[in-house]
Amino acid sequence: VRGAAAAAAGPRFVRVNLIAGPVEAAVARFEAEGWRLVGGGGGGELEPRTFRRDPHVPDVLAFPAGTELHAHALVRDGSVVLQDKASCMPAHVARPRPGGVALDACAAPGNKTSHMASLMGNRGRVFAFDKDRARLATLERLTARARCSIVAARCASFLDVDPRDPRYAAVECALVDPSCSGSGIVDRMDALVDAHIAGVRGAAQPSDAAADAARLRRLADFQAAAVLHAMRFPGVQRVSYSTCSVHAEENEAVVARVLRSQAEFSLAPRDQVIPTWPRRGLETAGLTAAQAASLVRALPEDGTHGFFVAGFVRTAPPPPPAA
Ligand code: SAM
Repeated sequence: VRGAAAAAAGPRFVRVNLIAGPVEAAVARFEAEGWRLVGGGGGGELEPRTFRRDPHVPDVLAFPAGTELHAHALVRDGSVVLQDKASCMPAHVARPRPGGVALDACAAPGNKTSHMASLMGNRGRVFAFDKDRARLATLERLTARARCSIVAARCASFLDVDPRDPRYAAVECALVDPSCSGSGIVDRMDALVDAHIAGVRGAAQPSDAAADAARLRRLADFQAAAVLHAMRFPGVQRVSYSTCSVHAEENEAVVARVLRSQAEFSLAPRDQVIPTWPRRGLETAGLTAAQAASLVRALPEDGTHGFFVAGFVRTAPPPPPAA
C-alpha cells in the first residue's frame, strides 16, 4: 500500500472546540449516540462505531476511516471541527495562553485561528491576517460557527503589517502557516506519485522539473520571510511554523535559514513540540540531530496528511525601537 492510500484509509479526525465544552463533554455526546470509546495507543484500525482520544494531541478524537460527520449536529453547531490531526499540532506548538494575545500570519480559512481561540478559552485576542479577501470571509464564517469572539481578522499581506504598531505590542505568540506546495495533502500526493510514474515513463519534460524547483524556491523565500517577520513583533516569545508539504526545501531548509538569519530565536526543545509524536525532522540543511529531533514531520503512512511543524522560542530580547 503506498503512503497516500494508507492515509486515505486513516482515521477521521475531529478536533473538540473547547469554547463549546471540554473534551469529556464531546466524548459523552458521542457515547450518548451509541459510539463506544476505546483505549489504545493510537495504532490499529478502529472498529465500526468506536472512537478514541488521540494519544498525541489532547483535544483530538479519532473515528473509523470514512466516518461521515459533515452533517453531524456537533459539527454544524461548532462543538467539534473536522480537522486533520497533523494540522491540529501547530496551535499547540504556539502555546497561546487564555487571556493572552496571539497572531495568525496567514490565517484563512481559519482552522488554526479557531484552534488557538479554543486553547485560549475564547479569552484574550487573536489577530488573524490573510491577503485573500474571499478566504478571509470564510475565516470569519468558520470562526463565528466555532463561537470565537476574540478573533480580529484583517485583510493584509502579513509582510506589510508593522510589528511596531502599538496595537500589536502585546502579541506574545505567532502561528505562521504560509502558502506551500501542498505536497503533503493526500489527494495531491496521489497526483505527485502519478506524475513521478509519468516522469519515469518519459512523459515529463525537463522544464517541468525546473519550473517546480523555481516554484519551491519562491515558496521557501516567502515562508522564511513570514517567519522572520513574525519574529520582529517585539513581544513575541514563541513562533510556530508549519506546512502541509513533504519537501525539505519548505521545511528543514526554511528552519535552518531562519536560524541563520537572526539571533533572537532558537528552536523550541522536543519536549515543547508534540513530544510523544515519533516521526521527527530530517537531519539536513545543516541541522544537528537535536535540532532535527525538535521538529515534527507527519506522512500519509502515519494516517495523517503529510505535514511539518517547528517551534521557535525567544532566547534574546528584541532590539530597541529605532529612534
Ligand atoms: N492556517 C490556515 C488554516 O489552518 O486554515 C491555512 C493557511 S493556507 C496554508 C495559506 C494562506 O496564506 C492562504 O490563505 C493565503 O491566502 C495566505 N497568504 C499567502 N500570502 C500571504 C501574505 N503575504 N500575507 C498574508 N496571507 C498570505
